[in-house]
Amino acid sequence: MEFFQHVVIIGVGLIGGSMGLALRRAGYSGRIVGVSREKTVATAVELGAIESGYTYEQIEEALPGADLVVMCTPIQHILDYLPRVLETVDPGTLVTDVGSTKRRIVETAADVGRDDAFFIGGHPMAGSEKSGVNAADPFLFQNAIHILVPDDKAPQEHHQALRELLRGIGARVMELSADEHDTVVAAISHLPQLMATSLVEMVGRMDEQAGDGHFLSLAAGGFRDLTRIASSSFPMWRDICATNSDRIEAMIAQFVATLRVVGGNVGSEVLEQDFDFANRVRDTIPRDAKGFIHKLSEILVVAEDRPGVIAEIAGALAALEVNINDIEVMKVREGEGGTLRLGFDHEEAAERALAILNDLGHRARRP
Ligand code: NAP
Repeated sequence: MEFFQHVVIIGVGLIGGSMGLALRRAGYSGRIVGVSREKTVATAVELGAIESGYTYEQIEEALPGADLVVMCTPIQHILDYLPRVLETVDPGTLVTDVGSTKRRIVETAADVGRDDAFFIGGHPMAGSEKSGVNAADPFLFQNAIHILVPDDKAPQEHHQALRELLRGIGARVMELSADEHDTVVAAISHLPQLMATSLVEMVGRMDEQAGDGHFLSLAAGGFRDLTRIASSSFPMWRDICATNSDRIEAMIAQFVATLRVVGGNVGSEVLEQDFDFANRVRDTIPRDAKGFIHKLSEILVVAEDRPGVIAEIAGALAALEVNINDIEVMKVREGEGGTLRLGFDHEEAAERALAILNDLGHRARRP
């Protein structure tokens, strides 16, 4: 982590602010300087995300002396500022970013053509529906996959140092080419966003036309769960769609074709094969929302319906230093309690948790 002694974060919002807080929390002792609007800089200093800051107009003053620059503004802003940043930084400086699409950003960096300052693109698969530095969270990157796009021009020691820094703040580093990244995120993030948006739009318009509110009043269960991301705010998605439109369009076409095939099976026994396949595949998807690279080791605990039961379970494990990496309340019915799914980083931790909770009289088992 100490390979870098002077970090500059450009755009101290949710991701940039969280980066600063996470570095400090992880014990990083070098300088952390921000570049943002004056008001944002003041808030970020107050929150401890950065120690001092500059405005965008002063960006040239902020960069000398930096050995790592992390660009955390919206994608279009990264594209606009990246050439200036790469041209201004000292020789040997590593620049990275957190933008949600990678091809355009990586191409923009390569076009600068500087060979004594380096760029390694990045994308933390962590976020929140909130934005701005006030929503910054030192734990945001914990257990979250952070994709890096390796670059041959950047020395191995810079790759290694960046990986170490990210691991230091709890991230799980995965390397992909920009091309692979943009295809995968088109399938698992961009297509679902547009599906949720269009599904809610379709049902919302039907509800408006019917005028009796029946569609939406009955949508509280599965429909609401499935379409949670339809609440995403547009500005970030405008940039994502603008910089990955070819992959998104291809993914939509593929989805429409699949929907037609599955739709064609409606009313036939063959539909069962679609369900079987989807059931099997979905079971293999890591459950953690942040996308664990390796699956967590899990246990299931039956929790009685009484105040403090979750605190009791978590407290018992914490007292014996067993760290819970993920927790999900699977089903709760009033008066009947529910089942908690606890995820652990290692098999050994899961086994210890099982023993501890069973000793305390909780009904715990492996799934
Ligand atoms: P955010 O909370 O809105 O922060 C963005 C920061 O960029 C703001 O603090 C703002 O700082 C600055 N900024 C400069 N020009 C801006 C403009 N035209 N519009 C809005 N803000 C501007 O957003 P974020 O969630 O941290 O996202 C930042 C980057 O992370 C984006 O590139 C996004 O693709 C990527 N990302 C986001 C998520 C997520 O779920 N949120 C996940 C992974 C990656 P000032 O206040 O100083 O203007």
